Amino acid sequence: MKERTQQEEATPSQIDRRGFFRGAAALTVGGFGAAASTQADAQTALAPPSPNASEQLEEQTQSALRWIGRDPADWVRPRAGADHNVVIVGGGQSGLSIAYGLRRKGVGRVQVIDRAAPGETGIWRTIARMHQLRTPKTLAGPELGNPALSFRAWYETLHGTAAFDELDRIPRTAWADYLDWFQQTTGTMVRYRTRLIEVEPQGDLLRLHLDVEGTPRVETTRKLVFANGYAGAGGPNVPDFVRVLPPQVWTHTTGNIPFNALAGKIVGVVGAGSSAFDAAAVALESGAAEVHLFSRRSYIDYPAPPSPQAAPAAPPDRGYANVLEQSYELPDVVRWRNFLLGDRRVASVPLDSLLRAVEFDNFHIHLNSSLTDVAAAGDGGVAGRVGNERFKFDHLIAATGYRIDLAAQPELARIHDAIARWGDRYQPAAGEESAAGASHPYLGAGFEFLPRSSSGAEYLRNIHCFNLAAALSFGIPVGDVPSVVDQPRLVGAIARDLFLDGIDTAAHERFINTPLTAPSSAPYERVVATHEQSAAA
Ligand SMILES: Cc1cc2nc3c(=O)[nH]c(=O)nc-3n(C[C@H](O)[C@H](O)[C@H](O)COP(=O)(O)OP(=O)(O)OC[C@H]3O[C@@H](n4cnc5c(N)ncnc54)[C@H](O)[C@@H]3O)c2cc1C
Repeated sequence: MKERTQQEEATPSQIDRRGFFRGAAALTVGGFGAAASTQADAQTALAPPSPNASEQLEEQTQSALRWIGRDPADWVRPRAGADHNVVIVGGGQSGLSIAYGLRRKGVGRVQVIDRAAPGETGIWRTIARMHQLRTPKTLAGPELGNPALSFRAWYETLHGTAAFDELDRIPRTAWADYLDWFQQTTGTMVRYRTRLIEVEPQGDLLRLHLDVEGTPRVETTRKLVFANGYAGAGGPNVPDFVRVLPPQVWTHTTGNIPFNALAGKIVGVVGAGSSAFDAAAVALESGAAEVHLFSRRSYIDYPAPPSPQAAPAAPPDRGYANVLEQSYELPDVVRWRNFLLGDRRVASVPLDSLLRAVEFDNFHIHLNSSLTDVAAAGDGGVAGRVGNERFKFDHLIAATGYRIDLAAQPELARIHDAIARWGDRYQPAAGEESAAGASHPYLGAGFEFLPRSSSGAEYLRNIHCFNLAAALSFGIPVGDVPSVVDQPRLVGAIARDLFLDGIDTAAHERFINTPLTAPSSAPYERVVATHEQSAAA
């Protein structure tokens, strides 16, 4: 399969609204380009937009926006020296939805910045390679409880309710198109090609060192939200034996894998999670001669149908959907053990992702297999072995996930040392230690970083970490669709802090001591009863 290029998929940042609604419908139908052989593609192909669908969608959305009413006025007291109340780093699904939440709360002077160009933010048109989202199609999304802004409303209005019912899960490019529509509909502006380089504290304000289309700039903000994605708290996890190889012979799944150059080549994939199978499938569909996937484990985890002997259902403190937002409140020991369990169990691979690769005879899964003695081969490839068996690859794909290492995140270079980690605040029982867990930030209830020591670095409370590093504190992969349930908590915390910041007691006193002035009695004058003054009076 040839993935659509970013240019082909880019949505212009500014197009007229009616055109955008039509464009959304067209993009969805044509969204899978050359990949026409899967169940997901067949489903989208079978669901042409209903006649007048885009007009109907626009009408329906206009009504919904009218019914929820205008955005409230900005109530936040300005603060001298601050350019912004809130800066959100990341214009992906999290950043867009948090920005919308703040706007509906009446928090003004919020900026969303993204280093990417328009149409290239987030992962859905860049490094996500599966045909369908891995999560169920009925989860709540960024619509903040307004069903008319949901994926379902968007999709059903364009394609009909039967088409939604027929979907297995949400087609990946349909989700990307929906997010574009959501951004446009909610009028959320993103400053594209604007990269946060570094955060520098200045009292309790934050000086942001930015690169704006190649020009350095410094802007100050009172609040900063990291909605910078899975790689936003330490980067991709690249094993040392891969990192030392020449860069042209390997790519992490977060990178731009040169699939077109892999036709006729032998490809190795290290790792056995969903992204490993997706990358393997695209390599095979691109004509790779052989793809070898190496898993240290003895089995591939996928959601098998429950058997009568299955383990008992998970207790509610282990991911029960309707109380996910309460997970932060769990005792540390439960949050820690939930993390250990998640770390032990590789996330399961959706069955369709597994089957997409397995249908190729030239795909080989090597279980219980760790590649060793990996080195650049003389003729430009990579050599390695498993036990006594030797392998030679033209290209190696590291499907090895992400790491949480605040010290490795460039934006945090000046401040990471001051941030409290789980290792500082929680002592696990013997046998339950985890270096990975200990390196996660120990976050406050509003996703804010906390200072490591009791004195100083209070500015950290103004930096909110809505990315994968929050997973241990919040018991949920933060950034995933299910984590939208935690966004009201984040928005509420930011609003509370801004509300309490700089309370002007003198202005308050003046206000409450201002004598009350009665409005004109004209509207009721006619019926006011008159009484004679009593003799005593
Ligand atoms: C391959 C893959 C598949 C996934 N599939 C699913 C799924 O099916 N269901 C699900 O619920 N979750 C899934 N997830 C998890 C999660 O939903 C996605 O990662 C999602 O994109 C997270 O959205 P986000 O807005 O938090 O971050 P992202 O979409 O990653 O957006 C972060 C943005 O921050 C910007 N940015 C980063 N650093 C800076 C900086 N210094 N300055 C300016 N901008 C910056 C980036 O350019 C990017 O646009 C998947 C994740 C991956 C990696």
